[in-house]
Amino acid sequence: MLEELKEANQYVINKIKEKDLLILEIEEYAKEYNVPIVTKEVAEYLRFLVRDKNVKNILEVGTAIGYSGIIMGKEIEKKDGKLYTIEIDEERYNTAQENIKKSGLKNIISIKGDAIEEISKINEYFDFVFIDASKGHYKQFFEDSVKLLNKDGIIFIDNIMFRGYLYKEYPKRFKTIVKRLNEFIEYLHERKDGEFVLLPFGDGVGLFRKK
Ligand code: SAH
Ligand code: MG
Repeated sequence: MLEELKEANQYVINKIKEKDLLILEIEEYAKEYNVPIVTKEVAEYLRFLVRDKNVKNILEVGTAIGYSGIIMGKEIEKKDGKLYTIEIDEERYNTAQENIKKSGLKNIISIKGDAIEEISKINEYFDFVFIDASKGHYKQFFEDSVKLLNKDGIIFIDNIMFRGYLYKEYPKRFKTIVKRLNEFIEYLHERKDGEFVLLPFGDGVGLFRKK
């Protein structure tokens, strides 16, 4: 989350009335066990975007405990859409499985493994890709998934401004990640096969649309 926006974000979040009990339960769990699920206003924005009539199949990189996956999966179920989601951590993968089961959704395909290897094994095309895993590998996740993206499809990149460390002082240990993210943002602006916008909300969101 971008510290500078804390109050504005809080204002937005206070306006959101979540009615889904499972979603509320997962939010509580995430708070208790420190699972970095998307912030509420970003979750609402994801929901808003995937409701688009052109979004049917979704790829998610970074399932964690299934929070964003269930939110998006539910929206596309009505359109007969499927959501593929990848998680490297066994415990989180298992918790996600339990949550998906509780949700009753039958359109979520969970893959346990490293997205660096798993994305290119998928034999499907997608209308929407949500990248929300290890920031040091964002460029690779992008390059692997853009190949599976349909025309006019969107890649949504979360946490791309990494707590504001891209433009302000940061702890030394993050030097490589900060450098990679800055380069990644330049690279996205320069890509010729689509357009890119950088949105300073949540923890920074990047949106790429393929031509
Ligand atoms: N999208 C989720 C939150 C994901 S948190 C939500 O908003 O509900 C990021 C997750 O990515 C973590 O659970 C982490 O284990 C996973 N991850 C990190 N690197 C990964 C990789 N290379 N492949 C797959 N998953 C990865
Ligand atoms: Mg995130």
